[in-house]
Amino acid sequence: MHDILVLDVAGTPVRWVDHESAAGYYASGKVRWELGADRTVLHGGISRLHGHRSRLEIAAIIAIDGPRWRVRGAEDRAPLSRSMVFARDRHVCAYCGGRFGQNTLEMEHVTPSSRGGRTVWQNVVSACRACNQRKGNRTPEAASMPLLYVPYVPNRHEAFILANRRILADQMAFLLAGVPRHSRLWAPDAGADGAQPAAAGVSAPRKRSPHSSAVRGRENR
Ligand SMILES: [Zn+2]
Repeated sequence: MHDILVLDVAGTPVRWVDHESAAGYYASGKVRWELGADRTVLHGGISRLHGHRSRLEIAAIIAIDGPRWRVRGAEDRAPLSRSMVFARDRHVCAYCGGRFGQNTLEMEHVTPSSRGGRTVWQNVVSACRACNQRKGNRTPEAASMPLLYVPYVPNRHEAFILANRRILADQMAFLLAGVPRHSRLWAPDAGADGAQPAAAGVSAPRKRSPHSSAVRGRENR
């Protein structure tokens, strides 16, 4: 089942949560506004008082009360994982340009760790096993294996897309609105095995704000 995208009241993505946690936000009156046509209905216990089963509708995107997330610009490093790097690189090997599945790809340090290369977004790329072995413990220059694309640091919105494999269209549209144009998420996708759909199939997102008509206000009880 899909996760719920949690924002702060200013609309900055904060975290993905499961339905149970989202229900907790509703129950404690923390949900300030919500977005998304897709709503999940949860059924709870039967009220002794009324004899009705309790029912809760959860939106795909909710903004909750609480401290605003401080975005620290370039210092606001997105967390990094193998699968996120593969998703950023659209499952394309940085050296041969082939497209590979999750199991054939490896996370490759452009400047090898043994030469002081760190595990940061700008120094890791997706590489197929063959290219990774051929390059070995060398820099791309030393191995005469130039990079076919430049690794970049995804911004916060893009990182939220990369971290989740099952994103609803509304959630994708909201997050894409905050992804800069240089991101590879915007690149046309040939589509192949192991590839994430990424932005494919999502039409140009409308910029949304807490003031847009799509927002459904919610009274705090
Ligand atoms: Zn390769």
